[in-house]
Amino acid sequence: ADAVRGLDTASLDLPGWRHVYSGKVRDLYEPDLPALGGAHPLGDVVLVVASDRVSAYDHVLSPGIPDKGTVLTQLSLWWFEQLADLVPNHVVSTEVSAEPGDGLVPDVVAGRAMVCRRLQMFPVECVVRGYLTGSGLVEYRAGQNVCGVPLPAGLVDGSRLPEPIFTPATKAEIGDHDENVTFDQVAATIGDEAATRLRDLTLAVYARAESIARERGVILADTKLEFGIDPESGAVVLGDEVLTPDSSRFWPADQWEPGHAQPSFDKQFVRDWLTSAESGWDKASDVAPPALPGTVVERTRDRYLEAYERLTGSALH
Ligand code: ATP
Ligand code: MG
Repeated sequence: ADAVRGLDTASLDLPGWRHVYSGKVRDLYEPDLPALGGAHPLGDVVLVVASDRVSAYDHVLSPGIPDKGTVLTQLSLWWFEQLADLVPNHVVSTEVSAEPGDGLVPDVVAGRAMVCRRLQMFPVECVVRGYLTGSGLVEYRAGQNVCGVPLPAGLVDGSRLPEPIFTPATKAEIGDHDENVTFDQVAATIGDEAATRLRDLTLAVYARAESIARERGVILADTKLEFGIDPESGAVVLGDEVLTPDSSRFWPADQWEPGHAQPSFDKQFVRDWLTSAESGWDKASDVAPPALPGTVVERTRDRYLEAYERLTGSALH
C-alpha cells in the first residue's frame, strides 16, 4: 500500500543549521556558524525538530504518522505557556526564516521546530505519576513501591495514587530501556540541591497540568520532563518536549476504570496492532516490526490530533 510517509527530519538539509543528533523522534541541529557569519544572532541555541517518526517497544516504526511532529511541537509550546510562571523554558523563537541563514526556523520544518537555548541537560528523566500503570505497576507488584516510594496495598492497574510521586529514571542510550532509580540515587549523581529542585519543579508542573487536563476531561496519569542548566544564567530550565502524548499518558476521564489497561490518547493503536496476531510480530524477538497498515496510521494520527484539540481547545490547523 502507498501509505503516506511521515517527514523524516533527520535527513534534511536545513540552511544555517548542522545536524548533530537524532533520537527516536526528535532531531537536534546546531547553528552552522560559518554560514551565519561566525555567531548565531540569538546566542547559544539549538534547533529542536520533532519528526513524524513513531516508536513502540524501542523500535522506530514505518511509516511515520503525518502531522505528529507538528502536534508534539505545538502542544509543547502551548504547555510551556501554561507553565511559564512556574518554571522558565528553553524556547527562544519559533519564527520562520525570512531568508536562508538568518538562524530562524527553516520553512520546511515550520510548525514542528523551535529554536531553543542550548542547555546542559541533567542526566535524569523526571517522571511523575498520579496513577499507577506501566513500569510503575511492574515495580509495585514486585515490592509495593515505585523508585523507593512506598505505596499502600491493594492498588491495581490504573489506580489513582494517594498523592503524585516523583519516580525518576536514568536516560538510556538508543535501544536500551530507561531504568527507574530512587531519589537518593539522583541526589548521588547530581547533588542534593539539584535533585530536590528537579523533584519540586516536576511535582509542581504535574499539579498544574493535571488540573488543566482534568478541566478538559483528560486524566494526566503520568509524564516525563527533562531539565537543564542555562549556562549563561545558571538557572534550571525546562527543556525537551513537555506534556505530549509521547512523554505522558493521557486518559479520557469518562472512561477511567481501574483494574485494567486504560484507553489513551497516544500510540495505543500501534502497540495493540503490533502485539496482535495480525501483525505476526514477536515483541521478544530482535526482528524489526512490520510496516504499519494505513488504518493504524490514520487512527493514530486522529488520536494525536484529538489530544491536541481536547487539551488546548483549538484545532491544529
Ligand atoms: P529517546 O529516543 O529515548 O527519546 P532521546 O531522548 O535522546 O532518546 P529525543 O527525545 O528524540 O531522543 O531527542 C531530543 C534530545 O534533545 C534529547 O537528548 C534531549 O535531552 C535533548 N534536548 C532537548 N532540549 C535540549 C536543549 N535545550 N539543549 C540541549 N539538548 C536538548
Ligand atoms: Mg527523549
